[in-house]
Amino acid sequence: MNHLYLDDYASGYGFETRCRTCGHQARESHTSLCTRPDVHGRLTLEDVSERLTCPYCKTRAVRLHLHRLTPVHHFIAGMP
Ligand SMILES: [Zn+2]
Repeated sequence: MNHLYLDDYASGYGFETRCRTCGHQARESHTSLCTRPDVHGRLTLEDVSERLTCPYCKTRAVRLHLHRLTPVHHFIAGMP
């Protein structure tokens, strides 16, 4: 199995957590996940989701979803 670690998604990816018990959803980033006490960059996403606790119902039934962030292009119009 080729496992990727949380650090492999340090840029260009966003995360979303969803609690399977109460349905609470939250947006996370690589940075916000790594600030959690028991989460670090050398965990697989599976390991990370096992360590997440729902802030509302305090269960560990939290699923972690990964999504690719679309790059934002800035167009500067009206330059001389
Ligand atoms: Zn919950």
